[in-house]
Amino acid sequence: MISRRAALVAGGSAAAVVAAGGTGYLVATHDKPEPLSPPSVNADGKLLWRNWSGIQTAYPSARLAPRDEGELASMLKTATAPVRPVGAGHSFTALAPTSGSLLSLDSLSGVIGWEGDEALVLAGTRLGALGPALAEKGRAMANLPDINKQSLAGALATATHGTGSKLQALHGDVTGLRLVTPDGRVIDCSADSNAEVFQAARVSLGALGVISQVRLKTIPNRRIRRRVWIEPFQDALAKAEARWAQHRNFEFYAVPFTGLAVGISHDETDDPAQARGADQDSAFLDALKGLRNLLGFSTPLRKAAARALLASAKPETAVDEGWKLLSTERPVRFNEMEFHLPADRQLKVLEEVVATLEKERPDVFFPIEVRRIASDDAWLSPFQGGARGSVAVHTHYKDDFAFLYELIEPIFRRHGGRPHWGKLHTLKDQQLAALYPRWEDFLKVRAELDPQGRMLNPYLKGLFGLV
Ligand SMILES: Cc1cc2nc3c(=O)[nH]c(=O)nc-3n(C[C@H](O)[C@H](O)[C@H](O)COP(=O)(O)OP(=O)(O)OC[C@H]3O[C@@H](n4cnc5c(N)ncnc54)[C@H](O)[C@@H]3O)c2cc1C
Repeated sequence: MISRRAALVAGGSAAAVVAAGGTGYLVATHDKPEPLSPPSVNADGKLLWRNWSGIQTAYPSARLAPRDEGELASMLKTATAPVRPVGAGHSFTALAPTSGSLLSLDSLSGVIGWEGDEALVLAGTRLGALGPALAEKGRAMANLPDINKQSLAGALATATHGTGSKLQALHGDVTGLRLVTPDGRVIDCSADSNAEVFQAARVSLGALGVISQVRLKTIPNRRIRRRVWIEPFQDALAKAEARWAQHRNFEFYAVPFTGLAVGISHDETDDPAQARGADQDSAFLDALKGLRNLLGFSTPLRKAAARALLASAKPETAVDEGWKLLSTERPVRFNEMEFHLPADRQLKVLEEVVATLEKERPDVFFPIEVRRIASDDAWLSPFQGGARGSVAVHTHYKDDFAFLYELIEPIFRRHGGRPHWGKLHTLKDQQLAALYPRWEDFLKVRAELDPQGRMLNPYLKGLFGLV
């Protein structure tokens, strides 16, 4: 048995050899030029804003950063439209870009109080700062996404989720929130008070106003054991349902062109902490990229080499408090499409996606992420009406991603998939209305809270059928 690290280093070396020699078949990602970027300052002297992956850009005429809720309310009354709240800019869709006012709640950060085990959290708090703040009280969030760079309100607005068949997306833990409307009114809402606003605002796309604080359920801060292993893709498919039933958190990555999958589980434990070790994801991606560059011309050869390099890697384990282990770093930039499918169709769809990529797109090397999310009832929650299984396809930020719309999205849509609000998709108004039973109710609340549409940029107008 070799360690996954040793296997990855070997794969990375293969990549380096290819980069030096070059097969001429596929252009190595690192040899490609940086994607074109607009100027950092426009003709009016306005600074460029970009999202994390670099595909969304804007030149806001004003950048607002209120220091407290009172300032937020008065800024909203006079701000130049479209007014777009922004968190960490980690969405791939054009939710945040505006030529008007870009509004950040970075100054409204921290836990400001407790009601029993529920924490009152300022909406600009980054998830990475929330973990240690809750841990001071011996508490934690029930679940976390892959990374913890997002702001709390930004994560809620797109229905950000982790994985676990009994665990809801982050907004499932919200028991109340405070919304500041575009005309400066402050509305407290919960399931018992202003309930319609609450159901619309838990997943709001930032279209109703600006959320200033959130009341969050928490759980005891427990240690968990993280396990990561590599196995044949067919085994991962066969065991997936049992593992979702068995583990607190379980996900796997199907690695196209390798016949392999990477499984990751998290379970509560009282065992002492055991360090996670250095990040291996970048080395893993380098190895996969190397295999693509070297053997992209032959899927059978690519699979054989991948098995030889990776299949005997031994599992890795780590033990620590959940907030330290559930999220990891994503040092390699990418673009992403993720759809949430009815749970019973998830694995079939995954097989179809992998087969399609292996037939049509030898340039793809990123693993495909497969997660399970419990149901909730927020109006724009993709998880409304039953548990969903997500399938996420990534492309390196220098690589083409148009094929996601042409090849992959039609598969997701044929199986009743709902798009992640923050990730690439082409769906609009009527298509979304067909997927969301409370779509019209959401639009009604939106129109009541923002009759002049001051929160709407062109992307949101398109989404809501207002153009
Ligand atoms: C590397 C990476 C990993 C990711 N991993 C996951 C994952 O594991 N699971 C998952 O589900 N998603 C994941 N995502 C997607 C990400 O969680 C969402 O796109 C999330 O919305 C980004 O949060 P943000 O703070 O960057 O918000 P932004 O992208 O800045 O904004 C998102 C939305 O929130 C709104 N908003 C921001 N602040 C407020 C406010 N105060 N009031 C009202 N609306 C507001 C904005 O207007 C916008 O509509 C990932 C993205 C990246 C780039």
